[in-house]
Amino acid sequence: MSTTEGKKVKVRFAPSPTGDLHVGNIRTALFDWAYARHTGGTFLFRIEDTDTTRVTDEYINDAIDTLKWLGLDWDEGPEVGGDNGPYLQSQRLDIYSYWAAKFIEQKDAYYCYCTPEELEAVREAQRASNQAPGYNGRCRDLTPDQVADFITEGRAAVIRMRMPEGETTFTDLIRGEMAFDHKFVPDFVLVRADGSPLYTLAVAVDDILMKVTHILRGEDLLSSTPRQIRVYQAMHVALEDYPIFAHLPFVMGADNAKLSKRNGEVSIAWYRDKGFLPEAICNYLALLGWSPGDDREELTMKELCELFTVEKVNSSPAKFDMKKLEAINGDKIRALTIDEFLQWSLPFLIKSKIISGTPYEIALVKAALPIIQERITMFSEIPAMLKFLFVDNFEIEADSISKVTDSGAKNVLTRAHRELEQITNWSHTSIESALRTSLIDELGLKPRIAFGAVRIATTGSSISPPLFESMELLGKEASLARISAALTL
Ligand code: GLU
Ligand code: ZN
Repeated sequence: MSTTEGKKVKVRFAPSPTGDLHVGNIRTALFDWAYARHTGGTFLFRIEDTDTTRVTDEYINDAIDTLKWLGLDWDEGPEVGGDNGPYLQSQRLDIYSYWAAKFIEQKDAYYCYCTPEELEAVREAQRASNQAPGYNGRCRDLTPDQVADFITEGRAAVIRMRMPEGETTFTDLIRGEMAFDHKFVPDFVLVRADGSPLYTLAVAVDDILMKVTHILRGEDLLSSTPRQIRVYQAMHVALEDYPIFAHLPFVMGADNAKLSKRNGEVSIAWYRDKGFLPEAICNYLALLGWSPGDDREELTMKELCELFTVEKVNSSPAKFDMKKLEAINGDKIRALTIDEFLQWSLPFLIKSKIISGTPYEIALVKAALPIIQERITMFSEIPAMLKFLFVDNFEIEADSISKVTDSGAKNVLTRAHRELEQITNWSHTSIESALRTSLIDELGLKPRIAFGAVRIATTGSSISPPLFESMELLGKEASLARISAALTL
């Protein structure tokens, strides 16, 4: 239908912040951003906050912070500004009123005085006779007298768009040729009785005024496209200036139902709190419904920008797989330098009150990190792993106590204590050789039995980072004291 060839690409991400951004929103944002970066175009960020009953400042700030955290920088929008602002729809209400009034004047729109009860009665009749639901056009051509009567009755009016007969067609970059018969696109409300604009009006007006060239968004919005195109027509936009649409397939949960709180963690805030890296989330979401044409599972943001094209977006729904995301996160964590790893880890340790952040603690954390970098899939696992190094009142986990109190364990611990005491150069290699010689070679124990008791005695848990390295970090004095204490249990 239209082309923007030769024009600089401008894509927008336009969430309605009525809750935390979720995985589906973020995948849309990521594709928008990647497309803008790939084409050297502009990435515009707009907040669709006209539904004042559901949008809060907290959600708006959260949306802004989430994009920043993910590294999806925008060229026009909140905080950065631009030539087409303001970028919060709540600050553009005059613009929508202006256009609604113009549509009335052009007779593209009209006042509808129907009451909610009357509209419900229409729907009821349609249901009963198996007709497609929707407004029946009752107020399309009211006479001045009818209008005067309605006003006298005290009825409030909404503004409705007049849908002409016929159909709307457009080419969707992902789904191909689309046609919507207007029989199924009834006259729709542009402005509520209280004067506030509806999404369809605001989104269409803004996409035109902000000179958006491409609309990449979720498939759930596909059916509102003919209405938005109707608004472009009423604005007298030239065909070649219509934005091009690309509707992204749904992200499904593991059970093939639409992804929701029920079948997957959907809020990005949750991933952040769990300790997922933004690059891992972006990497995973990028490959959810898109691929560069090979079967790679890892890619950097730079590669995404280089390779992203809308043509390679899959038209069938993509399935969300938490295990895959965890695996990617683990890989990205292992690829961090120790200093990067430290910077990511510290907030988790401080938040869980394992450390307060003194230079001594930070140095010890830094020394301990290499032994856990291979072992974690998310940062929230770190506090439990390093707790043993920092506790003031060391205690063995309740369900592990029995494993150090039986006579076999006592024997192991007594022997271990004696050997470890002799060590003059306390290091994981000297600890390992002392324990292997005394417990495995001389007592003939299995490593799991022998080291298990020592592990619980020194770290308090049967799950810990590698034992000898952990004991080296803990130090000779504390290690021996903990073994002695276990022997008194
Ligand atoms: N604000 C709309 C939403 O979050 C999306 C607007 C659009 O992408 O067209 O559902
Ligand atoms: Zn009406």
